Amino acid sequence: MNQRFITLDPWKIIEDSYNPNHIKAAESLFSIGNGAMGQRANFEETYSGPSFRGSYVAGVYYPDKTKVGWWKNGYPQYFAKVLNAPNWIGINVKINGQELDLNQLEVLQFHRELDMKTGVYTRMAELRLDDGTEVQLEVKRFLSMDEDEVGAIHFSLTPCNRAVTLDLEPYLDGDVKNEDSNWDDPFWKHTDQKVLAAFAALKSHTHKTGYEIVTYMQTQLLLNGLPTHQFPKNRETGHKITQHYSLECPQNETATLIKFGGYLSDRNHPKEKLMSEAEKIAQTAHTLGWDSLLRKHIAAWDTIWQTADIEIQGDIESQQAIRFNIFHLNQTYSGKDPGLNIGPKGFTGEKYGGSTYWDTEAYCLPFYMATKSSKVARNLLQYRYYHLEAAIKNASLLGFKGGAALYPMVTMNGEECHNEWEITFEEIHRNGAIAYAMYNYQRYTNDRTYIPEMGLEVLLGIARFWAQRVNFSARLQRFVILGVTGPNEYENNVNNNWYTNYIAAWCLRFAVEQARAVKDNFPDDYARIISKTKLHHQELDQWQNIADQIYLPYDDTRQLYLQQEGFLDKELNDVNHLPENERPINQHWSWDRILRSPYIKQADVLQGFYFFENDFSKETLRAHYEFYEPFTVHESSLSPCIHAILAARLDKIEEAYRLYLRTTRLDLDDYNKEVHEGLHITSMAGSWMSVVEGFGGMRIEEGMLSLDPKIPEHWTSYSFKINYQNAPLHVRVTREATTLTWFGKHELKVRLKGQIKSILAHEAA
Ligand code: BGC
Repeated sequence: MNQRFITLDPWKIIEDSYNPNHIKAAESLFSIGNGAMGQRANFEETYSGPSFRGSYVAGVYYPDKTKVGWWKNGYPQYFAKVLNAPNWIGINVKINGQELDLNQLEVLQFHRELDMKTGVYTRMAELRLDDGTEVQLEVKRFLSMDEDEVGAIHFSLTPCNRAVTLDLEPYLDGDVKNEDSNWDDPFWKHTDQKVLAAFAALKSHTHKTGYEIVTYMQTQLLLNGLPTHQFPKNRETGHKITQHYSLECPQNETATLIKFGGYLSDRNHPKEKLMSEAEKIAQTAHTLGWDSLLRKHIAAWDTIWQTADIEIQGDIESQQAIRFNIFHLNQTYSGKDPGLNIGPKGFTGEKYGGSTYWDTEAYCLPFYMATKSSKVARNLLQYRYYHLEAAIKNASLLGFKGGAALYPMVTMNGEECHNEWEITFEEIHRNGAIAYAMYNYQRYTNDRTYIPEMGLEVLLGIARFWAQRVNFSARLQRFVILGVTGPNEYENNVNNNWYTNYIAAWCLRFAVEQARAVKDNFPDDYARIISKTKLHHQELDQWQNIADQIYLPYDDTRQLYLQQEGFLDKELNDVNHLPENERPINQHWSWDRILRSPYIKQADVLQGFYFFENDFSKETLRAHYEFYEPFTVHESSLSPCIHAILAARLDKIEEAYRLYLRTTRLDLDDYNKEVHEGLHITSMAGSWMSVVEGFGGMRIEEGMLSLDPKIPEHWTSYSFKINYQNAPLHVRVTREATTLTWFGKHELKVRLKGQIKSILAHEAA
């Protein structure tokens, strides 16, 4: 059941009334980011009601010492936390001496909107003070998509029924904490500050990791759009720098504080230059001014939408939702910095620590691969190549040898930093997604150079891991994988999770195939890799043998692959037996009860059917979908998108549509009652897949792009854009026809609904 309070609009996210109970959820939904930094939609002024304040700098983290009930050998020492960074947006406001605080004043009107086309967040309110004064508040804010280190606020107040005295205090505040800190350790140490007229900056470094950042602000006060030429009085107290402006503002005139601010980090500048660079950036922002920065920001968004937009006609709910997903994906990761990755909550919350999960390879890669240049997708693959040494070390800490690599389930720098045993030790299927991503990339981009240059080493490490992780069961006369957690985290320590066994066997075969292909086609690379990895040809034979003899749990009577051994012994009541007030079960049931139940958190067997679609007939897919879907509670955001794609393939279009709404509106309608913690960014890429791969039926088959478009009844038409072989292809689907427009230089062959078509450049078919 959904909890909607957002008004429908094709390009905007709108909240039309003030409700203190929605503040935290709205802070997540209206979050803004530019790939380099991001923040929740906190009010600039004081807000004494419940709020979750958060502003984050990409790639800057703290290794928070592990906290568990009972230490187990092999646990990582820390859980990485994306850091709540010093607050640069704050502005304390007093009107006739009374604090501006929506929690204390009478709110006559309230409206906020996030314009996804332009990336501008606007908030408006009409307020009545205790002395009867009425004021209008209008605030605009953006984080520049054009200048990574610049954010801008346009904060205006207009007294409506009398003149007022205004005290405006923009500030920088270093006294910030993570909500999810394990031990209440301080994460930041503030080392320096600088104040110069309307510029102020605070230099801080992170404990343990030693990142240095400078948080800055540059302000200016205007009356009716014209500079007041007032310089603020500055106050420095502890870790806070406050400026003070004061103004007599006549009735119906508008006082505006412009505040530029943001972060510079030593990931991008030499430490010793951070302060001076901050000053330069602030000065440039000031000189360019609000309007010109805004124009460039809007132009940058325009460029993004030109290659990423999905247009849906006839169904505003669907339209708003898909743009919301595409918008947040772009706010989180721009692809510019290869050292960065995509945290499940992006910059909208602290859960998951801002770290990299298997989500990147399994869900996010297709979106970035098809909406940005193939270089961006290659960067995402390289990220894991650079972490190979750490993955080998990670495996060796668990007792694996000889170059076996176990990639972390959660990481910032290649080290595992998650410490729930079932996730850290058991969710080893993540290794599979990393190998699969290489296959997916090669298939889509036709770039044959990544695997010989880098990928093969990763594949060999992964194959070595699987070869050591299996054991031969004398009873079954097959290789088995014991004690795992599959993608469905509502089962722990199970034997022979079908998905894990299947992807392990696939990885082994793929590694063998790719090793042989590199040997034949790139002998120099092969020689380099052999000498580095000491690969022995017997290993390849051994991997092939394991893959051929892997055990895949199967029930002959039902003719079904089993999620794991024993799955059919459960009390098989489907989700219709679950009372609505007990959902999501992870918020109402004990873990013990969840583990015994047949309820599936997220696509598990069906995740395998999604990845390896061509290995199974449509009828086999149908049987598995119809068996597993009724037990699936979709309490991971990563789930409904996969089910939506499979339902569309099975021509269950109405069901695919319902799942599409669930995946795209998961946060907008708060299906899982947790949006206040932040948004589900990585699953948003799955939402994109549910249109392009689901309804659009996009696949690469035998090296050719293939489309099999279907259209839900609720839509009159839809269109999407992909970047294929580094040129745009536009696909428009109506009830009657599909039109393809190709902007590449060469002729393109496409399989459309089974028929091969050739399209010339700039031609529509
Ligand atoms: C899911 C995982 C996922 C993680 C981060 C969990 O709830 O079960 O599969 O990697 O969230 O998105």
